[in-house]
Amino acid sequence: MSNLIKNFARPDKAEEVVTFGSLDASTQELLKAAFAVRQHAYVPYSGFKVGAAFRAIPSNQIFTGCNVENAAFTPCSCAERTALTKAVSEGAREFSVGAVVAYQEDVFTPPCGVCRQFIREFATVDIPIYIGQALDHRLETKEDPFHPDDPILSTSIFNLLPSSFHTYRK
Ligand SMILES: [Zn+2]
Repeated sequence: MSNLIKNFARPDKAEEVVTFGSLDASTQELLKAAFAVRQHAYVPYSGFKVGAAFRAIPSNQIFTGCNVENAAFTPCSCAERTALTKAVSEGAREFSVGAVVAYQEDVFTPPCGVCRQFIREFATVDIPIYIGQALDHRLETKEDPFHPDDPILSTSIFNLLPSSFHTYRK
């Protein structure tokens, strides 16, 4: 193997669909935080709400963000970038895990290409990312946002963005 690819981003483990109930309490808490912040999404144009949450190292603090749209469209910010920008602006630069929550009936909603690169900036090692389906009707019925048998996509930034551009810094 060429030395020129030995430092490429490669995932630690393969992407898979798991159940919410199989996740540890810390990851469940992160998904719930992403669900909660999604309710603040400012989406007058698309109506498509997204919430994201990242856990910082070493504090274990959760930073959350929602998507924020704009009438001029180009200045829109995704939930993932909102969360990470909040975190970095408060001094966090390392993250152990992330969660993204949105809702499309027939497909999970992983981060867009821009956000994948944004997350990659802070990934010196692979960061697990959990993607959940947000069912808003559970707010009205005051149910838990996730049930134990709900499907969750367990992926990671190196699964989402392999062989990625990282840094030219020494
Ligand atoms: Zn994005």
